[in-house]
Amino acid sequence: MAKGRIPPDERMEKGPVVVVECEEEIPCNPCVKACPVGAITIEGNINNLPVVDFDLCTGCGLCIAGCPGLAIFVVHKNYRPDRGEGLVMLPYEFIPLPKKGDKVWGVDRNGKVICEATVERVLNTPKQDRTAIISVAVPSDLVMEVRNIKLK
Ligand code: SF4
Ligand code: SF4
Repeated sequence: MAKGRIPPDERMEKGPVVVVECEEEIPCNPCVKACPVGAITIEGNINNLPVVDFDLCTGCGLCIAGCPGLAIFVVHKNYRPDRGEGLVMLPYEFIPLPKKGDKVWGVDRNGKVICEATVERVLNTPKQDRTAIISVAVPSDLVMEVRNIKLK
């Protein structure tokens, strides 16, 4: 059974899966409550880091907007294999929001632009409390690098 915060390569090949980049040991657990299949757990003390059961995760993305640290992403490495495109679902709290079909910049964890990305979906329901979930198509070898977007 594959557990952790970063999915193993074999799991990434299979389909969309969560990536939890939570590194601060603070009392926090909305991610646990947000997951409908119980894939995220925090064992023992609430200050401990979450752990994902990657065999249970369906890559639905429901946990993304629930994380106050904006530390949760879903990656789909083989989103469009014929075009070499992967998909990254990421939390986004800026306005204006992009819209489906927009070309934007894919940005890495340091804020550096690393590719062009296409907005595939924008999810922004009242339940998300102003954290939109933006799905962007990016080169599949960059799904573990793109962690934000910048509008053109
Ligand atoms: S992506 Fe969906 S199934 Fe996976 S951990 Fe998040 S809420 Fe659970
Ligand atoms: S909700 Fe986010 S910050 Fe809080 S424990 Fe889960 S991943 Fe970490």
